[in-house]
Amino acid sequence: MTRSSHGPRLLLRRLREVMAEQETAQEKLDRIVRLIAANMVAEVCSLYVAVGDDVLELFATEGLKPQAVHHVRLALGEGLVGLIAATAEPLSLAEAQAHPAFHYLPETGEEAYQSFLGVPILRGGAVTGVLVVQNRQPRFYTEEEREALEVIAMVLAEFLASPEVLALREELGRLRVRSHHLVGEGLVGGLIIGRAVLHEPRGIVHPLEAADPRVERDRLHEALGQLRAQLEGFTRHPLLASGAQGDILRALSMFATDKGWVARMEDYIRLGLTAEAAVARVQADNRARMLRQTDPYLRARLHDLDDISWRLLRILQRAGGEDPRANANVELPERAVLFARGMGPAELLDYDHRRIAALVLEEGARHAHVTLVARALNIALVADLPGATDMVENGDSVVVDGDRGEVFIRPDAELLQSVRGRIALRESAQRRHARLRDKPAITRDGVHIELLINAGLPADLEHLDELGADGIGLFRTEMDFLMRRRLPGRGAQEEHYRAVLKVARGRPVIFRTLDIGADKVPLFMNTMREPNPAMGWRAIRLGLDRPGLLKLQLRALLAAAGGAELNVMFPMIADLGELRAARRLLDEQRALFQRMGRPLPKVLNVGVMLEVPSLLWQMPALLCEVDFISIGTNDLMQFIFAADRANPHTSRRYDPLHPAMLRLLRDIRNATRKRQQLPVSVCGDMAADPLQAMVLLGLGFTRLSMPPAGIGPVKAMIRSLPLAGLRDQLQRWLTDDLPGEALREQALQFARAHGVDIATA
Ligand code: PEP
Ligand code: MG
Repeated sequence: MTRSSHGPRLLLRRLREVMAEQETAQEKLDRIVRLIAANMVAEVCSLYVAVGDDVLELFATEGLKPQAVHHVRLALGEGLVGLIAATAEPLSLAEAQAHPAFHYLPETGEEAYQSFLGVPILRGGAVTGVLVVQNRQPRFYTEEEREALEVIAMVLAEFLASPEVLALREELGRLRVRSHHLVGEGLVGGLIIGRAVLHEPRGIVHPLEAADPRVERDRLHEALGQLRAQLEGFTRHPLLASGAQGDILRALSMFATDKGWVARMEDYIRLGLTAEAAVARVQADNRARMLRQTDPYLRARLHDLDDISWRLLRILQRAGGEDPRANANVELPERAVLFARGMGPAELLDYDHRRIAALVLEEGARHAHVTLVARALNIALVADLPGATDMVENGDSVVVDGDRGEVFIRPDAELLQSVRGRIALRESAQRRHARLRDKPAITRDGVHIELLINAGLPADLEHLDELGADGIGLFRTEMDFLMRRRLPGRGAQEEHYRAVLKVARGRPVIFRTLDIGADKVPLFMNTMREPNPAMGWRAIRLGLDRPGLLKLQLRALLAAAGGAELNVMFPMIADLGELRAARRLLDEQRALFQRMGRPLPKVLNVGVMLEVPSLLWQMPALLCEVDFISIGTNDLMQFIFAADRANPHTSRRYDPLHPAMLRLLRDIRNATRKRQQLPVSVCGDMAADPLQAMVLLGLGFTRLSMPPAGIGPVKAMIRSLPLAGLRDQLQRWLTDDLPGEALREQALQFARAHGVDIATA
């Protein structure tokens, strides 16, 4: 066998043409193997596809007996083909039959062929098939021939994952059925049966073939230069250069100059791939090694190399004018389940999100922005699942249970049936809740409860009417900033707030001033690395230190609410001095408006978010200085229990129904009663769960603000609740000298005994 003088470049083009033709997938596969055999001057070319749990099947052949197609099957590790699949390494043999793994299959007629060259077909680190060429005469295949076959395998990997080949496999009953059950952190509830879509489709880089290898080589080196500069910049950064973080960055920098790595990419470019495709090709080899590596240290190093490849790929794609964030044109199936390593909120919004039913993330994302966006868009979310993107293929059937934090990849029929049953139950609960839309939120003993929503994105506002909520108890103004690539000017902000007030149609809206910092850093702000970001330079602290930003926002709010009611709430107030300083800024802006003769809000209420414990011991003065208070239980809990809300190891460690938390809330409620008629609401996520909301009512709160999904279930709870009885019970529970345990069991028993509807749906 001699390599065609055109190298694989011409063949790649021909393969593409075949793939694009109007033929069945099987006809195309048959033509593909014929083409490869002819181009590589081989007597045999066979394509084996991974079809089930560790089984490969002959899908097409030129040279072996045609009747063996779809009949010959090999287990992982069985024969030379099985060995390639098991090791994910190519195999080149002059005398195949002398190899100990050789396994004679009479139905193929392959005994006539002596030499053998086989390469794995890799996708995302998984072996999805094996491509083999064979020759009658004993001979050694050159390194170049092996590389050429690997490049062809790369193109085939993409074709094997295409909808037409998937359809063929489905028709043959040969879809890969290996299922996975993963347990991570459920961050947005919901139960979904959908189809997987990879956010960063692996191996899918376009175009694959290049016209001029010299141009591609230059592009690669240009990108490598940028990559090195990026990493060097990081390693020089005073906050990043020290400790473990610094070690990792230095290791990454070393990889970026690794001669072997660069040489391998250059080899693939020489063989006709674009710079992007060459990077992806080497990355695929590396990922295959990574998945097989059991030594944690080496595995971590391979992960570093994988990260470096991603960075390089992104640099190349950006230079090519392709915006890797532009997902708007990605064709999504109905009920798409997006899989990603990590994702920013803007990336999620780039998609046609009406088709996205669930999001699965490898990284932890509790209270990350993307979680807030997913919640607003009603997209179920499970995070903290390392390796999830390696286990799934585009188009796989997937079940996502956002309540339990579970993900099933390629679930079996039995599981699907039971999930369908649960979905039907949930839908009937949702219909029940929807019917309550126009019914008042009144307890069985006649106490009216105000139900408001937490909002921040335009999508949230749609829920206001749909749910029949009483207003917006927390409008997170920072969300708009987080979605933008540039700082919005006063005009843009004003327009945004005006639109919110318009949708509210006279119902109260509490605008919280910017709560940026910690995990909420807009794209246009320099990321400040802080050792303890949740307790760091965020919210009002940042606003007072950079008054220009806060003043701009206050002006936008005053202008938007001209002639109407404006409720402004300051976040993270820890010291009354901060409230006074913020209020001064607001008064100054108001005075300015007055001097300019601009219309002012008809009513201006100023409130605080009670979320830092120090405020609890400043209550008497606080009560005299505010028009309303809203308790942010998310932050309050993290500070009371010293448990980072963004860290999966600590965020669920303490129960909101812990007596410490409940006594604290009771004391706040009692303290605020000193100023009669002062509106006091609870606006943390705690209020969205019917059982927890029930306890809040028992503590005396009558105004709850929550993520929109909570309104229906909480209203159903309220309408079935005998409140007076619960209040008495709670008083007793909280005065008794209870052990430290949460009151969840007692609350559940109360609900059951009194027929309180606490279904979450
Ligand atoms: C809170 O802290 O409880 C809250 C509602 O605000 P955020 O979640 O935006 O910090
Ligand atoms: Mg908060």
